[in-house]
Amino acid sequence: MAILDILHFPDPRLRNRAKPVSEVDARVRKLADDMLETMYKAPGIGLAAVQVNVPLRVVTIDISEERDQPLVLINPEILERDGVEEMSEGCLSVPGIYEKVKRANHIRFRALDLEGQPLEQEAEGLLAVCVQHEIDHLDGKLFVDYLSSLKRQRIRKKLEKEARQQAEPAPAGTAI
Ligand code: ZN
Repeated sequence: MAILDILHFPDPRLRNRAKPVSEVDARVRKLADDMLETMYKAPGIGLAAVQVNVPLRVVTIDISEERDQPLVLINPEILERDGVEEMSEGCLSVPGIYEKVKRANHIRFRALDLEGQPLEQEAEGLLAVCVQHEIDHLDGKLFVDYLSSLKRQRIRKKLEKEARQQAEPAPAGTAI
């Protein structure tokens, strides 16, 4: 397994639309393993392959307290949405930012599992929000897109400034 680099907003690669997985093979299972490891280490409750610069429709989720119930969704699709829920959301690609977003609070979705078998499931609350958030990533969409453009602009500037600061070379004479 390996820890993958997570792209940060406003990286244009986060806007890539992911392609469906045509066959759940060893390569896809390795990607899912690496994504789970990356998600647990971050730590986060969900990760989409687009966030690690792999434009495939693969998502990993674990909303359990014990972090021992990994869910891997391949080619996930929402079949039904119901109700409205407003929850404070964050994202591994938008570090340190939490904002309220309205989404359906009850969904039915389908996907393939790691064996390539179809699964169909209902979800509500946090899991429903998480599945919707991750599927958005596969379509190049981020939770900041639901905010006002003023707010999005402010977040963009903050993250760009942080990225610049991190990219600055160490001062001369610093031991590395
Ligand atoms: Zn996210």
